[in-house]
Amino acid sequence: MTQFDDAFTMTIDGKAVSSHATLDAINPATEDVIANFPDATREQLEEAVSAAQAAFPSWSRLPVSERQQMVREFGRAIEANGEALMSLLTTEQGKARDGAEFEVGGSAAWCQGIAEQALPEEIIEDNDEHTVFVRRTPLGVVGGITPWNFPILLAVWKIAPALLAGNTMVLKPSPFTPLCTLKLGEIAREIFPAGVLNVVSGGDDLGKWMTAHPQIAKISFTGSTATGKAVMRSASEHMKRVTLECGGNDAAIVLPDVDPKEVAEPLFWGAFANSAQFCVAAKRLYVHEDVYDAVLDELVSYAKDVKVGNGAEAEPQLGPIQNRPQYEKLRDLFEDTRRSGASIRLGGEIDDSRGYFVPVTIVDNPADDSRLVREEPFGPILPVLKWSDEDDVIDRANDSDYGLAGSVWGKDTDRARRLAERLETGTVWINEIHQFAPNVPFGGHKQSGMGVENSLEGLSEYTNSQTITLKK
Ligand code: NAD
Repeated sequence: MTQFDDAFTMTIDGKAVSSHATLDAINPATEDVIANFPDATREQLEEAVSAAQAAFPSWSRLPVSERQQMVREFGRAIEANGEALMSLLTTEQGKARDGAEFEVGGSAAWCQGIAEQALPEEIIEDNDEHTVFVRRTPLGVVGGITPWNFPILLAVWKIAPALLAGNTMVLKPSPFTPLCTLKLGEIAREIFPAGVLNVVSGGDDLGKWMTAHPQIAKISFTGSTATGKAVMRSASEHMKRVTLECGGNDAAIVLPDVDPKEVAEPLFWGAFANSAQFCVAAKRLYVHEDVYDAVLDELVSYAKDVKVGNGAEAEPQLGPIQNRPQYEKLRDLFEDTRRSGASIRLGGEIDDSRGYFVPVTIVDNPADDSRLVREEPFGPILPVLKWSDEDDVIDRANDSDYGLAGSVWGKDTDRARRLAERLETGTVWINEIHQFAPNVPFGGHKQSGMGVENSLEGLSEYTNSQTITLKK
């Protein structure tokens, strides 16, 4: 398969399944309806969970090497369908071509990386009296729930480890970006045994039904903190395991010894990649007072040349906001920022033309208690803030309910490292940003989430620990 047909079907028990009711998928650059997709009924979710349950015993008993092989094959199939997936991704998500290449290429590579992993049995004690073994056993049916900013990659971050660990899965994409994920299900039909990966689409209710479903053993969720809390509440009823990857308000701290020109480009992309619809976008940029004006000038000058437009066309580097509710949320935040009297150095005006376009916007030293600094904008508006005292900037950076990631930039790497260790976040990058890998744990502190994805630690979250002791 290298070119997709126009039909978007769910994957239940290895078969294509449509639904009487459908929902519209909208291209955010044009606001045109680009396709209809199934709005799953509760009965269809039951069928998907039953299929996943039925597939679990034989799938979980396969030697891990066979599951690794199929995860690898899935990665190769994503690569083989890369062109079609990228084209669909730019159309449904809105991102520019570069971003689509990063996402699709990354997804294929992820499968290969995860397929190298395994959780072999460990003997933790072996003496004259007894032997103690610790095994990792799969959980059963895992429910995957994903957001709309990286619909392919974030689905693969769940599919590959969940299946490799011996679980079966029911996966639900965001109703704003279901199309690529439905195609992932289609690709999977030719690789995994029926029932191992089921993909269902529908509205938010479908997610609620999943989190309440007694036969789903775990929910692996990526999305907002508010929904993450709802997932956790609902999962508690049957004591489901949860991994929650939620929102963030990441600080980037710039030390006085940076070269402003050099640092402007990585800081720009750190803040604005994917039109800043990125959980780990740098969302508060704290620049030391000695270089504040120079860094701000360089950043604005770099940002002026970045093209925003329809991701499906050749030129743009940044696309529109992905959906109307998020676009409206941003309009409100822009309005609040203007009303507050903050100094807007670039952008700031959202016009009403077709498509959910928002200009790259940079705000000069707004108040620490402004909404722009306190909230997660999830769109291309960046507050640049001035600092002079190390303890003070750390307090300000940590003054958030979020704790996803952060970054520190400077030539004095000892000082940068010292600051990094004081940030209350799951990841801190020094002189780089957005470095992810299948063998590197990623997860949030505080209200940015629970548990991690990727790495052996992430893989083990798809298992229970079982201890066996044998008296000699
Ligand atoms: P969202 O929480 O609105 O939706 C995420 C998913 O949850 C969707 O599939 C949605 O249909 C589903 N859902 C909605 N209500 C539900 C409920 N009550 N029960 C179960 N499922 C439900 O998030 P979004 O707007 O799609 O994504 C943006 C958010 O995601 C941002 O806050 C961003 O920071 C976060 N995010 C986090 C990471 C991370 O790895 N930490 C990655 C990407 C995005």
